[in-house]
Amino acid sequence: MQSDRETVVIVGAGQAGAWVAITLRSLDPERRIVLIGDEAHPPYERPPLSKAILAGKAGIESAYIKPETFYADNRIELMLNRRVRHINRDRNSLTLDDGSNLDYGTLVLATGCRPRPLPVKGADLPQVHTLRTIADVEKIATWLKPGSQVVAIGAGFIGLEFAAVAIEAGCGVTIVDAAPHAMGRVIDKSVAETIAAGHSARGVDFRFSAAIDKIEAEGEQAVVVLGSGERLPADLVIVGIGAIPNSDLAEAAHLACDDGIIVNAFGRTDDPKIFAVGDVTRHFNPLLGRSLRLESWQNAQNQGIAVAKAIAGTATPYADLPWFWSDQYDTNLQIIGAPTTWDRIIWRGERESGKFTAIYMHGEKVVAGNSMNNPRDIRFIKQLILNGTPVPDAALADPATSLAQLAKG
Ligand SMILES: Cc1cc2nc3c(=O)[nH]c(=O)nc-3n(C[C@H](O)[C@H](O)[C@H](O)COP(=O)(O)OP(=O)(O)OC[C@H]3O[C@@H](n4cnc5c(N)ncnc54)[C@H](O)[C@@H]3O)c2cc1C
Repeated sequence: MQSDRETVVIVGAGQAGAWVAITLRSLDPERRIVLIGDEAHPPYERPPLSKAILAGKAGIESAYIKPETFYADNRIELMLNRRVRHINRDRNSLTLDDGSNLDYGTLVLATGCRPRPLPVKGADLPQVHTLRTIADVEKIATWLKPGSQVVAIGAGFIGLEFAAVAIEAGCGVTIVDAAPHAMGRVIDKSVAETIAAGHSARGVDFRFSAAIDKIEAEGEQAVVVLGSGERLPADLVIVGIGAIPNSDLAEAAHLACDDGIIVNAFGRTDDPKIFAVGDVTRHFNPLLGRSLRLESWQNAQNQGIAVAKAIAGTATPYADLPWFWSDQYDTNLQIIGAPTTWDRIIWRGERESGKFTAIYMHGEKVVAGNSMNNPRDIRFIKQLILNGTPVPDAALADPATSLAQLAKG
């Protein structure tokens, strides 16, 4: 029997928590590992929820990170449908939802995010949903059929991916956003407008710069009432207006937080016994030289691996250039880099063709890239960003000039 000093307890059985457990077990065959999550499913990846699974093209279990039996087979104590209520730092223990206590030697907070609630009257009507969990998809999917009217609130990734699936299912789709264009926070307006144009061409109706006044019940439907007075009847309303980190446990335990739990490049919080990982962290990225909070598959997996290494005593800093992808209809969008500023976009390939790469420049340097149906470019853009060497605009814009050669310098 191991002492509790050796026990690693991971709170949050999502992607990041799972990768801490999986990697730690591979590095340390002996240590007791407990993985606690408040959902009913073993750890799963969320990206397919708004893509293949929502479209009914893949089953729920295809999203599982490991088969359900993996955890017991590898002596990872997986506790599902259980919620941690409190961290007692003075006693190195947790209080669970049934009042029981669990001692830890090392604690990992992998509690992820929750959808930002829509602060209007009627947001709690039964037709109004968010899209983050398998349970959400099970409720939403039944409405995706020919003739259904759906409204997505928020023209970010969730709203746009949901819209693509809904259009392909034969629904009428309207997207409402308070901002003047789609994907306001993450990509350049010109690229966002190109993506939105692809949606419009397939029948999505946008309402940009639109405030939501309230949502009303009308018979079986909900009606989204805009500030302009326009009424949008819907069988289903999806709210995708961003996410907020589940840092409540950490805040109550007085760990340093600032829109996320603050950690260093090894996932350490300001308590040497406590790590944090995934969407819930504001972590230091040595490549960018600044701290940031990311909601991405890459970050959840690779930061999880880095935290496990730090716990096992083979610390390697987590240092990835942020990378994200989205699939909408037959379009694959990839995003590399997380610049705070850029001064122009260079287009490589014809925007109208639906196959191009938008290269974000700051001065003479490449700081980010978005590829549409052009995934191969992303790896070279990544090298160009990391190299930091000046590159002439004309060479980047000319598809006859090899990006691979430019990246080699
Ligand atoms: C619909 C959707 C589509 C996405 N698509 C993409 C994509 O295409 N590309 C990409 O890069 N990223 C995508 N993402 C983002 C990516 O899935 C997330 O960044 C990733 O899931 C984060 O993993 P995590 O483990 O940090 O958090 P989560 O996956 O949120 O896991 C945290 C878990 O902790 C549980 N929890 C919280 N508090 C407690 C508690 N007190 N006790 C017990 N359990 C608790 C939560 O319920 C949850 O199960 C998508 C996300 C969503 C929702």
